[in-house]
Amino acid sequence: MNPLLPALGLILFAVLVAAAVLAYLILRGRLGDPKRNALVWEYLHSPAAHPDWVTRANSRCEGALFAFPTDGYIGYLWGGTFQPLERHQGIDVFGNLPLGQTPVYSASDGFLTRLADWKSAVIIRVPDDPLAPGRTIWIYYAHMADPQGNSFIDAGFPPGTMEKPVRMGQRLGFQGNYSGDPANPSGVHLHLSIVLGDGQGGFRNETDIANTLDPSPYFGMPLNTESGQYGPPHCLADSNPNGN
Ligand SMILES: [Zn+2]
Repeated sequence: MNPLLPALGLILFAVLVAAAVLAYLILRGRLGDPKRNALVWEYLHSPAAHPDWVTRANSRCEGALFAFPTDGYIGYLWGGTFQPLERHQGIDVFGNLPLGQTPVYSASDGFLTRLADWKSAVIIRVPDDPLAPGRTIWIYYAHMADPQGNSFIDAGFPPGTMEKPVRMGQRLGFQGNYSGDPANPSGVHLHLSIVLGDGQGGFRNETDIANTLDPSPYFGMPLNTESGQYGPPHCLADSNPNGN
C-alpha cells in the first residue's frame, strides 16, 4: 500500500468536515430566525393591522437611561444571525411610513460625529457610561439615506461633523433603506447599536458584535436574542412571568 494513502484519507475527511460546517453556517445565516423573519414580514405587509407592535419615539421605560430613538416595530434584536459567522450588533426598528419620513431622535445627550464619507450614519459619544462609570460608549445610527446614498440626516450634521453636542430627543434625521448597494436596498428602518470606545478617544469597529454592548439595560427592554422574546419588547419593569 502506498504509505501516503492514510494521510490522504485524513485530509479528505478533514475537507469534508469543513465543507459540512461551512454549509451549515451558510444555511443558518440564510435562514436566520424563521419565526422572527415571519413577524417582520407580517408587520411590513400590514403595519396598520399592528399598531400595538410599535414602540414610540422618545418614550422611555421607567428607570431606563436612554429614550427610544424612533417610531417602529423592533424586528431584529442584538445577537441575531443574518450572515454566516456574523451576529447582529444592534437592533433594527421598522417604521411604517414611506422612505425618509419617520424621524430619528437622539437616545441620549452626547457628542455627534459624522465621518466625511458617511452617507447614512452618525455616531454619538456618551462620555460616561451610566452603567459603567468612567467608560466611554458610542451610539451608532445607520440607514438614514435612500438606496443611492442621498442622505436623510439633518442639515445640522453635514459630513465631517465632529463632536457636535446633541440632547436626548433632538432630531438627527429620518429612517431610510441605504445598504451600500443601490440594487439591493434594505427595508426602511433604523439600525442602532451601542459601540465600545477604543480607549484613545475613538470608537471600535461596530461591524463586530464583540465591540458592541447588549442594548437591553440601556433601554430597559429585552433587546437581546438570548432573551427568547418575540413580538414587541415591553419594558422590563412592566414584564410579568406570563407576559410576552
Ligand atoms: Zn441592524
